[in-house]
Amino acid sequence: MENFKFKKSFGQNFLNDSHILENIIKESHIKENSLVIEIGPGSGALTKYLAKAASQVLAYEIDNRLEDILDDNLIDIHNVDIIFDDFLNRNIKEDIEKYQYDNVYVVANIPYYITTPIIIKLIESKINFTSITLMMQKEVGDRFTASVGSRDYSSITVFLNYYFDVKKLFLVSRNSFTPKPNVDSVVISLIGKKEKYHVVDEELFFKVVRDAFQFKRKNLRNNLKKYDLDKISNVLSQYHYDLTVRAEKLSVDIFIEIANSLAKK
Ligand code: SAM
Repeated sequence: MENFKFKKSFGQNFLNDSHILENIIKESHIKENSLVIEIGPGSGALTKYLAKAASQVLAYEIDNRLEDILDDNLIDIHNVDIIFDDFLNRNIKEDIEKYQYDNVYVVANIPYYITTPIIIKLIESKINFTSITLMMQKEVGDRFTASVGSRDYSSITVFLNYYFDVKKLFLVSRNSFTPKPNVDSVVISLIGKKEKYHVVDEELFFKVVRDAFQFKRKNLRNNLKKYDLDKISNVLSQYHYDLTVRAEKLSVDIFIEIANSLAKK
C-alpha cells in the first residue's frame, strides 16, 4: 500500500479503524447462508470482516491497480469474488445468479461521488435485499434520514421513505480514513418496506414529489400550479393543511394520496 497513489476521482478514502469495521458488521446483522455485495472494496479492509460474517462476498472495484493489493490482503480468504469493473455498469441480478443463499445484503463504504446513483441502481435491480448498510458523507446521510418538517427533508428523503425504512446507525469521524477526507461520515441502513404503498401511477408520484420541492421557499400552490389544485387542496384539507403549505411539511403518505388523487380521472 505504501506506494499506492490514492485517486480522489474514485473517492478513495480507506477505513483504518477496526472499531468502525466491527461496528459496521455488528449493525449489518448478517444471517447464516448469506451473500453480501460490497461496492468498492479498496484494499479489502471491510471485505475481510464481511468474509467472516457471510458465506459469500461479491465485491465490485473500479480500480485495477488494487488487484495485487487485494490478492495479498485476502490471500487466506476463499469466499470472496471481486469483479473489477464500474459497479454502475453491471447487471447485478445476472452477477448474483450463480450464488445460492438465503439472504442477500449490501454492505459498503461506498465511493461518495456516486451515492445516489448507487442507491438508484440497487432499487432498480429489484433484488429483495434483506438490508443495505452504507457509509456515506454525513450531510448526505442527514438528508436521507431527515424527519418531516426539518431543514434537510427533501425529495430524496421522500423517495427513500417510499421504498425503505431508513435509519441512521452511527457517525464516523474523518480521522478514521486514509487519506483523511474533508468531511465526516455516517453509516445508514435501508430495509425494504414490508408493507408496500399503493401508488396508482408511480411516474406521476415521482414527478409530483420532484415538482413540489422544486423551489424550496415556494408553497405547493406555486410549485404544483400545473396540476389540478382543487384535488390537491382536497387531500391537504384532510390533514388540516391548505395550498400555502411547503413540501417539507408533507410525509410520504400525503404525497402518495396527492398523486393518487391526481391520477384519477
Ligand atoms: N471499502 C474500502 C474501505 O472502506 O477502506 C474502500 C472505500 S473507498 C471510500 C471507495 C472505493 O470504491 C475505492 O476503492 C474506489 O476505487 C471504489 N470505486 C469508486 N468508484 C467505483 C465504481 N463506480 N464502481 C466500483 N468501485 C468504485
